[in-house]
Amino acid sequence: MEIGREIFWNVGQAARWIAYLLMVISFVLIVYGIRKRYTMWRIGKPTPFSFTRTLWERIGYFIKNGIFHGAILRRRETYPGLMHLLIFWGFLILAAGSGVIAFQDDFLRLLFGITYLHGDFYLIFSFILDLAGLAAVVGLLMAVIRRYGTKPSRLDNKGEDLLALMWILAILVTGFFVEAARIAYDRPPYEVVSFVGWFISPVFTGLSKEAILTTHIIIYYTHMLLSFGFIAYFVFSNRLLHIVTSSLNMMFRGVEEAPRGAVAAIADFETAEEFGVNQIDGFTWRQIFDLDACTRCGRCQDRCPAHLSNKPLSPKKLIQDLKEEWLRRAHGVKNEDGLLDKVIEEETLWSCTACLSCQVNCPVSIPTFDKTLEMRRFLTMTLSKMSPEVKLLYKNLQTRFDPYGMGKAQRLEWTEGLDVKKATEAEVDVLYWVGCVASLDDRNRKIARSVATILNAAGVSFGVLGPDEKCCGDPLRRTGNEYQYQELAQGNVDLLKELGTKKIVTACPHCYNTLKNDYPQLGGVFEVYHHTEFISSLARAGKIAIKPVLEGITTYHDPCYLGRVNEVFDAPRRIVGRVAKGRFVEMPRNRKEGFCCGGGGGKIWMEEHHDRICHLRMDEAIGISAATVVTACPYCLIMMEDAIKDKEKSESMRALDISEIVARGL
Ligand code: SF4
Ligand code: SF4
Repeated sequence: MEIGREIFWNVGQAARWIAYLLMVISFVLIVYGIRKRYTMWRIGKPTPFSFTRTLWERIGYFIKNGIFHGAILRRRETYPGLMHLLIFWGFLILAAGSGVIAFQDDFLRLLFGITYLHGDFYLIFSFILDLAGLAAVVGLLMAVIRRYGTKPSRLDNKGEDLLALMWILAILVTGFFVEAARIAYDRPPYEVVSFVGWFISPVFTGLSKEAILTTHIIIYYTHMLLSFGFIAYFVFSNRLLHIVTSSLNMMFRGVEEAPRGAVAAIADFETAEEFGVNQIDGFTWRQIFDLDACTRCGRCQDRCPAHLSNKPLSPKKLIQDLKEEWLRRAHGVKNEDGLLDKVIEEETLWSCTACLSCQVNCPVSIPTFDKTLEMRRFLTMTLSKMSPEVKLLYKNLQTRFDPYGMGKAQRLEWTEGLDVKKATEAEVDVLYWVGCVASLDDRNRKIARSVATILNAAGVSFGVLGPDEKCCGDPLRRTGNEYQYQELAQGNVDLLKELGTKKIVTACPHCYNTLKNDYPQLGGVFEVYHHTEFISSLARAGKIAIKPVLEGITTYHDPCYLGRVNEVFDAPRRIVGRVAKGRFVEMPRNRKEGFCCGGGGGKIWMEEHHDRICHLRMDEAIGISAATVVTACPYCLIMMEDAIKDKEKSESMRALDISEIVARGL
């Protein structure tokens, strides 16, 4: 008995021609669907985009995170990771198998009379395809259990989710039954390698040979119609199309084109009549594409500090609400009222701390804050609509150049008794950018003093701007007041350039990010270091000694704009590891998944409603019995100290900046 099978067994050449016809119809529908979708994406504004830039890096990123699901597996999400892997690889292998069959039967055999689907190759091929089909079925059943059984709160179910799952499952099951009927007809012993079909084939026991042949034809055509129907439906289904859009988004957003922490400048700033976005087509086509790529997985929501502290913001909902609006607009429904308070509530926009946790932890790399920011820009610059605290913040920055409104005279008070030069009066190697909080807030002035003490101990030639230092502009930019930001920041850039500044060190991650990532847009390109990086390099060079001074359990809180946004994770940990006499224990959420203190995005200058984010963070520190919460950001320090007080833990816990501990050991 020859090992192999006839490709159109029992259905004859008619089936081949029907398959060709359905293939052509599906192809036409796909082209039509993609064209239609393309015009829908293009309702967004044009934006520069190079398809080929860093293409190999993008492909590598996609292979790692899209094909091998690295982004999900890295987060130790074993169940969804395995589920996606089984479905994806199962389908990929089945599709490749169909290609192998078609290549033989529609090309090599027809043109040259060559066949290869027989003998050992056939046995291995059949086994692999059954294994792939089984893997896909298991993956799909896992998906059904997850969506409709265990159902994590971040998932919501729509009718199209169920339709997609059931449709795919039906294709696989009918495929196996076609195989089983064929095997049941004469049960060739070698077909045991098609183990799923072999296992099912006894269901046909008791049927006559004719009945098996008829049943086979019915299931065969059902399977064919389901398969080609699925291909045609694919591009019209919001649910299924995400397989393509999210893969592309992962590829073209995952490898970032600009520094993660930089905010995109307003392109037509000089000529625009209004700023920001209040209509869906005010977003760029790439931002619209982001909306289409969202898989509704809810990972962003699970990690959003605003959502977890019961504020009216879920990044997933924000993206989905904008997507619904885009679909309405793309189908011709005009929205005369705009987005604000019609599609997205103002309170939602003001709840965001700009921590970028949603973006960094989104498996398909969808930025959310860029959209929030555009709508904030519309509120603040076009409508001049903001809360009284934000108004006061802008006024203080306009008139006194710091968020407190304290003015330049007090900016050097922290230096009393220390040897600190003014960079405007002496030539120095390093400019110490102190920042408003460390210059003017009593508690945080200890950070400024500690940094200066360390720099002096290491013999670094440094100076400060003192009264000439103005706010870096971060709170203005991230609350949407681009106009005032530009004015302030340009002044800073001009002064720094005038002084011939090359190297800047700062203890504030918000200043660090703005100086490093935003200022190049204004022509200010400097070597910018966070104090943790600088202190760590001084210690490595043997210029200072870091001594263990902290008793008890020590933990480290990653400031968002140092850790997740600028990926400075190791330098602070190198220092903390050395200052801790007792154990160093990480909090459950650390590094990229580190949890915000609640102060970013201008929020530290606003009233916090609902639960406090810093309380949630402190619960984690309390959970690991930390005696000291070390941090590296003035905002975080304020928030951590507030939380320790509110939780009545002042007796047993304290929060310190990394510089304070190092300075203590000098
Ligand atoms: S940036 Fe942070 S606060 Fe804002 S939506 Fe994303 S996760 Fe939530
Ligand atoms: S934005 Fe990203 S993380 Fe959030 S639901 Fe969509 S795909 Fe998931």
